Amino acid sequence: MSEPFDAIVIGAGAAGSAAAWQLARDGQRTLLLEQFKIGHTQGSSHGESRIFRFAYPQPEYAKFAIQSKPLWLDLERASGQKLLHSIGGLDFADDPDCFHEVRQIAAALKQNGAACELLNAQQIRQRFPQFNISDQTIGCYSPDGGWIAATKAIRAMADQVTALGGSVREEEPVKTIWGTNHSFRITTSKSSYTAPRVVIAAGAWMKSLLMGDKVLGFHYEGADVNEADARLCKALDQIADLQLKVTQEQPVYFAPIAKADSFREDRFPIWIHYRKPFFTYGFPMIETPGVKLAFHHDGPVINPANLDRTPNPEVSRRLREYLQTYLPDAASEVVEEVTCLYTTTIDHNFIIDTIPSFPNIAIASPCSGHGFKFATGIGRALADLVQHGRTEMEISLCRFFKRPSPAPGGS
Ligand SMILES: Cc1cc2nc3c(=O)[nH]c(=O)nc-3n(C[C@H](O)[C@H](O)[C@H](O)COP(=O)(O)OP(=O)(O)OC[C@H]3O[C@@H](n4cnc5c(N)ncnc54)[C@H](O)[C@@H]3O)c2cc1C
Repeated sequence: MSEPFDAIVIGAGAAGSAAAWQLARDGQRTLLLEQFKIGHTQGSSHGESRIFRFAYPQPEYAKFAIQSKPLWLDLERASGQKLLHSIGGLDFADDPDCFHEVRQIAAALKQNGAACELLNAQQIRQRFPQFNISDQTIGCYSPDGGWIAATKAIRAMADQVTALGGSVREEEPVKTIWGTNHSFRITTSKSSYTAPRVVIAAGAWMKSLLMGDKVLGFHYEGADVNEADARLCKALDQIADLQLKVTQEQPVYFAPIAKADSFREDRFPIWIHYRKPFFTYGFPMIETPGVKLAFHHDGPVINPANLDRTPNPEVSRRLREYLQTYLPDAASEVVEEVTCLYTTTIDHNFIIDTIPSFPNIAIASPCSGHGFKFATGIGRALADLVQHGRTEMEISLCRFFKRPSPAPGGS
């Protein structure tokens, strides 16, 4: 498709690909721009699997995940591929300081009409004897938990953009964004494009794109230019205040020592172990011959422009130690170490919003290590916001410019 475009989406990770797909579905002539190749391994969205779950302590996220599921099924139908595998999920805690999170999950699921079972240690052992847990452990089992085929889903969404008449341009980094109230001009390494609506979903590069050296400029025609600039600067300062911390995280696959069949996805769930300061999570064996697990929010702060992807053997050692305690049959050799970036806000809620006074430009920073499951819903919300200024998606915790001052913490 050639210009003019109705909408331009910057960044083809989970959020941007989904936004472009939803805009194309709405009949918008859509351009999706990606600085690397679709499915690349430099950002946050690559890999075999991401956890899908309704199971959140916050009812808002539980509802948002529930709203996102039918859109994943739409993507499966459109692409003819199995992408969402609902195999069941177990959230558990053995530290009494974390019991409230398991109980809040059960309450949030019930509030949203989703199925769940509260389990004691004996019931967990009966169902999943792979876990070596203490007698005081409690858990919440959700049959809707499972995993999404991550890289395949990104490719499927980008392919849908093309199939619906949109355009996907790879290896074309955006250099500048210049806007008026009628139209935005986006300049890339190869060309420049205009459209009345823009979505910025640049992941770990968000801050440098928004705050970079005059990368983003707006001129609001008909309004007092100084006043509009001041409002924009204030909005961008607020984003900067959140610091959008980028960390390098390291999930690791381990080959089982024994009873390998018991870690297959028809016998073993996705799981989250609520602990302090953050949870540990894991998957059954899927295609890679090993169970995958990781510590949530564990990695060092890095600069994505200067990424050293060498795995840290100390992380793998600590993960094996974890397995020796909680899943002893799974604690054998490392099969694969993966590096991936978290872009995290102070309160660990997402940013999914339009910029005040600039309703045609939406920003999305939906990571903090838990955004993939919502990608289809995030795409729907972004498409709604730039076209209509509102959405039915439950993003109340993510409306950055409407929420109260964030408190450090997170889900
Ligand atoms: C190790 C790990 C495990 C995770 N596990 C889970 C999980 O189990 N469940 C879950 O729900 N979530 C999980 N997440 C979080 C989830 O993967 C992220 O929330 C999601 O992938 C973020 O997608 P994104 O589109 O915001 O960012 P990204 O995937 O980084 O996409 C941003 C894209 O923008 C492109 N871009 C940047 N700047 C430019 C530019 N100037 N021009 C053009 N393109 C540009 C980048 O190249 C990139 O492709 C995990 C994340 C990690 C790292």
